[in-house]
Amino acid sequence: MLRHTVKAFQDHPNIGLIKVVIGADHEELYTKAVGDLLQESHIIGGATRQESVRRGLEAFADQPPKLILIHDAARPLVDSGVISRVIEALDAKPAAIAAMPIVDSLRRETGGAVDREGLWQVQTPQGFWYDAIITTHRASTDDLATDDATLAERAGIPITLVEGAMSNLKVTRAGDLTTAEIFLAARLGDIRTGSGFDVHEFEPGDHVTICGVRVPHTHALKGHSDADVGLHALTDAILGCIGLGDIGSHFPPTDPRWRGADSAVFLQHAIEGVKERGGLVAHLDVTIICERPKVGPHRAAMVARVAEIAGLRPDQVSVKATTTEGLGFTGRREGIAAQGIATVRLPFV
Ligand code: MG
Repeated sequence: MLRHTVKAFQDHPNIGLIKVVIGADHEELYTKAVGDLLQESHIIGGATRQESVRRGLEAFADQPPKLILIHDAARPLVDSGVISRVIEALDAKPAAIAAMPIVDSLRRETGGAVDREGLWQVQTPQGFWYDAIITTHRASTDDLATDDATLAERAGIPITLVEGAMSNLKVTRAGDLTTAEIFLAARLGDIRTGSGFDVHEFEPGDHVTICGVRVPHTHALKGHSDADVGLHALTDAILGCIGLGDIGSHFPPTDPRWRGADSAVFLQHAIEGVKERGGLVAHLDVTIICERPKVGPHRAAMVARVAEIAGLRPDQVSVKATTTEGLGFTGRREGIAAQGIATVRLPFV
């Protein structure tokens, strides 16, 4: 959750410094979650929410920013629209918070309907003029406020409500995580399938490289790079998902840089293209077509290697093999062919 939250703010063009306030015993979790994303040191929180926020604010006191946004890490699905609305409102107003108008009827457990007119559900981020909110926090140490807007309002600072988002939910109760995952999956709802096909011819040699694994053989495969048909087919399949041409257009055989190159580089380049579009590779499936060498004994190693190169779990990778029953060039053992399919999830744009 923290990683999603931090990335949401990091990806926003108007956010400068991000500082995370954590519990004293959460150092290891913090490093694992966002250690590679944030260069800034984190802050150890206090006994209450208010105390933790105050310590976070004080961490900016050396070089005070004009504006500051306070956000719950438990709202990992905050989007750039919500962040922008809070920031824009701070142009003219000292405090702006994300909130949603209540649409459901309200009722007290003990009986009696509550008029929902004018009632809003408060979310975060809550944005403030830095000077105003740090002054307020320094003056209020009774730790009674459940959020910073309440604290600011008690100090006489007017609060502006801006529209939050349904998806900006606070993961609190059992089941909220599932809801969050559904929202997250829907963001990557543009599901693409791409195919790739490759052939390399045999030449004299003693091994071939298939799906990143060296396999001893009576011949080698001829090619400019390491001639890994499996990785080439998968690279083209991924490029196909994002309409980014083919392997030859990215790594021309005329370029001496790719002489004897490890084809892992090609596959990773294609995956990088997916990541740049905010997407991910969901599944890779490749069929190796040849009479010899036998792929079966090396299949598990190939799955493991492709998964490693692609940054996927082994269950997201499939390597299969077939012969052509002695027919055609593969049947005559003149070379090896491979057919790859990739499934990629991209955000809707
Ligand atoms: Mg090739």
